[in-house]
Amino acid sequence: MKIHEYQAKELLAQYGVPVPEGVLLSEKDTIPDEIRFPCVIKAQIHSGGRGKAGGVRLVNSADELKKAAGELFGTCLVTRQTGPKGRTVHKLLLTPAERIKKEYYLGLLPDFENGGLLILASACGGMEIEQIAEEQPDLIFKQPVSLQIGLRDYHVRVLTEKLGMSSSLFCQMRTILKGMFRLFLEKDCSMAEINPLSETEDGRIHITDAKITFDDNGCAGHPELMSLMDPFEEDEKELKAREAGLNYISLSGTIGCMVNGAGLAMATMDMLEGYGGRPANFLDVGGSATEGRIKKAFEILLSDERVRVILVNIFGGIIRCDIAARGILGAAEDLGVKIPVIVRLEGTYAEEGRRLLRESGLSVIPAENMSAAAKKAVEYGGESD
Ligand code: GDP
Ligand code: MN
Repeated sequence: MKIHEYQAKELLAQYGVPVPEGVLLSEKDTIPDEIRFPCVIKAQIHSGGRGKAGGVRLVNSADELKKAAGELFGTCLVTRQTGPKGRTVHKLLLTPAERIKKEYYLGLLPDFENGGLLILASACGGMEIEQIAEEQPDLIFKQPVSLQIGLRDYHVRVLTEKLGMSSSLFCQMRTILKGMFRLFLEKDCSMAEINPLSETEDGRIHITDAKITFDDNGCAGHPELMSLMDPFEEDEKELKAREAGLNYISLSGTIGCMVNGAGLAMATMDMLEGYGGRPANFLDVGGSATEGRIKKAFEILLSDERVRVILVNIFGGIIRCDIAARGILGAAEDLGVKIPVIVRLEGTYAEEGRRLLRESGLSVIPAENMSAAAKKAVEYGGESD
């Protein structure tokens, strides 16, 4: 789950990281009098690259602020991370403009190699960091930190040295890193990033931007984080799926997939790609999928106007294929499915499941095995562009 910059800054502040003051503005709010100028207006959308897309602006007066806010509210910002559809701006963060001397990058990620955390840092932070990561990866310094030892002063010392920072910034960097660390572990983050982490002309560290992503699998343990979710930013289908306990991720293809088990779902998507098609989603209905959940899954797939065909791939291990077949038929009948539905059933009570489908009179297209099912789905769903 992603959150906005203003929320990430508030969280960092709770962990002792000094963040710049800010005022959050919604569309209907009047602009408060106490704003100091020059001030930076920042569109709050779940995306980086706002600066380059015109979503971060410097204003010098109340009039300029009013004009810029008017332009930004309701605008669809297209950044290199949003895709062509962009994201609509509903909130703005107003923050005093800072005189910046140098921009650094600071990120924290899980370290899959060493089972700890990985600090990423660069003296070349700011808006070009993606390009630098690609073209000059040596300019990004990596520091693994084991969870047994935790973050120590020497980690901070090495880091500030590698970044070429003055030793007078050590204490500020330690406070920031310690706070980020504790936040990362306590809230089950999957990414925390400050870019730029700036050095001001008068020698202070300034948290100019902040980004935090939480591991969705850890969210159940943090009900307090749910209030940070912005429904405007979430995929409606993904929200519905979450409510129904389905593991669903929206993708950009034309073939709706309904599969039980994450591994089988991945394999199904790979197979579709192999035959030249593109899945519209990843969907794992779970090992214990009931008729009700299968119906809910159909509803979600059908609400996606890009879906031209549905591929159901069920392996009956825990779930019985006859129950799955009833779910499919129930959904097809109740929801008036008008697009082709290709079904591959295998495993427990598979024969019975196939018989139910055959005798239903509904136009469900059976497939004898997984690859035949994928091939048919690509035939009906169209090849990818
Ligand atoms: P992003 O483009 O979505 O990552 O948005 P950022 O919050 O990182 O802002 C983009 C850029 O605007 C930063 O890299 C800075 O160069 C610049 N910027 C943002 N706030 C300030 C500020 O207070 N003073 C100055 N001088 N530049 C700023
Ligand atoms: Mn940034």
